[in-house]
Amino acid sequence: MSILLFFVDGIGLGEDDERTNPFSSAHLPTLHRISGGRRWLKGQGPWQSEWARMWATDARMGVPGRPQSASSQAALLSGGNVPAYLGEHYGPRPDARIRQLLRRRNLFLRFASCGMRVATWEAYPPSFYQALDRGRRLPASLQYAALVAGLQLRNAEDLRRGEALPGDFTGAAWRQHFDAEFPTLTRKEAGMRLARLARDYDFSMFSYWWTDVVGHRGDLAQAVAQLELLDDVLAGLLAEWNREEDTLILTSDHGNLEAMDHGKHTENEIPTLVYGAGRDAFREPISLQDIAPAIEKIAGIAEVSSG
Ligand SMILES: [Zn+2]
Repeated sequence: MSILLFFVDGIGLGEDDERTNPFSSAHLPTLHRISGGRRWLKGQGPWQSEWARMWATDARMGVPGRPQSASSQAALLSGGNVPAYLGEHYGPRPDARIRQLLRRRNLFLRFASCGMRVATWEAYPPSFYQALDRGRRLPASLQYAALVAGLQLRNAEDLRRGEALPGDFTGAAWRQHFDAEFPTLTRKEAGMRLARLARDYDFSMFSYWWTDVVGHRGDLAQAVAQLELLDDVLAGLLAEWNREEDTLILTSDHGNLEAMDHGKHTENEIPTLVYGAGRDAFREPISLQDIAPAIEKIAGIAEVSSG
């Protein structure tokens, strides 16, 4: 039984407005097929279809202001109300307080401590590891959580062996910046590879960042293109997914891409899609901090007492 966390940075449930929200206008046949024809918009969720459930998920967690990546991702992986603990939404990179929380508790640690197989799938180039080593780059909360659980983030070697994916799925950026010889993956091939890799692991994660980058600095056409890319990847992923045994969870950390009339995060709820075997084990998550306990429950490693 495998659980794949498909993290998509900066997508929320926004207004139904084709001028500002790519979810209103993008051609998303796969998302809409598993959603019973629904678009992903404000006011949607909870809903269910034959194999999927989707919940509108609160990323604010009672703390005023716009949710930020470091505290939201820490809440997602730790199950704690990190913004309330900090007294603020914090990001983009985790500070000492958040790093300490993640060293104590996060899903990678939890699965690893139970002797279960954990992995992340996006490959980082040599320059990323050099910047980490020299202290010129702080890892994101998601990366930090994996690192403190003893995982090796995937690198160029893993990518060459087919045991990782380029951060943009098709490898266009990887070819341009790091390796001109890197073979192109189609979007569907990338999704199929992700499903095949996740199958051998109890808990693994792919984190996709370009949605947040485009939300901050891109335009509506680029935002639509991001969603259509994800939809094609999802088509490949679901084609290979063993939905009767395995569980796919697609979620985010805060809104951004669904409001292209400004370059900031939003306070919108975010979508949490659960597809496959564990869809009924999920209690209705009202906030980001409810996702980690639900994942532990699906895996059968939930603690009786709160730790
Ligand atoms: Zn983020």
